[in-house]
Amino acid sequence: MIILLGAPGAGKGTVAALLTGANGWRHVSTGDMLREAVKAGSPVGLQAKAYMEKGELVPDDVILGLVRERLAADGDVRYLFDGFPRTRAQAEGLDRLLAAFGARVDGVFLLEVPREVLIDRLAGRRVCRQCGAVFHVRNMPTRVEGVCDRCGGPTYQRPDDNEATVANRLDVYQRQTEELIGFYRARGLLHVVDAAGAVEATRDQIAAHLPAAM
Ligand code: ADP
Ligand code: ZN
Repeated sequence: MIILLGAPGAGKGTVAALLTGANGWRHVSTGDMLREAVKAGSPVGLQAKAYMEKGELVPDDVILGLVRERLAADGDVRYLFDGFPRTRAQAEGLDRLLAAFGARVDGVFLLEVPREVLIDRLAGRRVCRQCGAVFHVRNMPTRVEGVCDRCGGPTYQRPDDNEATVANRLDVYQRQTEELIGFYRARGLLHVVDAAGAVEATRDQIAAHLPAAM
């Protein structure tokens, strides 16, 4: 299993979409799973909604429950985790889960981006309501405004991409997630990637270290 680590706006989801599919790695975004749960009005969604709107983290046990269910349903696959783990408790929980499934963390890629670039990316981000594809009003616009290039669905601005919530999400990242850099570096799993440029350049840096799919 591979983990993509980095602040909100670092491009984890965008680069994951480029890395999956073709080579057998599957993209697992806890943010996407939570947004689906909110849309469906499931118990997890009802619990998660208020946290997400404020840019706070959803409780660790909820997240670990989602990931456990996903692993149990999929069986023997290789995941590219995007936005998970986000706390030390989640990282430790992931180790226990993977051990139970006979898997492990193979590598962790830290996507490094300066703060002003993060803010610009988040402020201009547009997401497809239907397929989750990510665009940017200036850097990666859709061919037709408001219409997803991939599936034709409507694009929208995530409610948590407003200025105040973005600032809080970046603080939450610094307070709760950044310590995972040291956690994985100490285990020799961390690769630092310059993710400030084009998404293809980020992809190539990761692909160079990605074990080939089984
Ligand atoms: P971003 O990385 O741009 O913040 P995500 O889609 O990964 O976007 O996450 C959106 C929101 O979903 C987060 O602000 C948080 O509330 C919740 N969330 C997603 N993944 C996790 C996680 N692993 N642990 C706790 N909360 C999470
Ligand atoms: Zn779409």
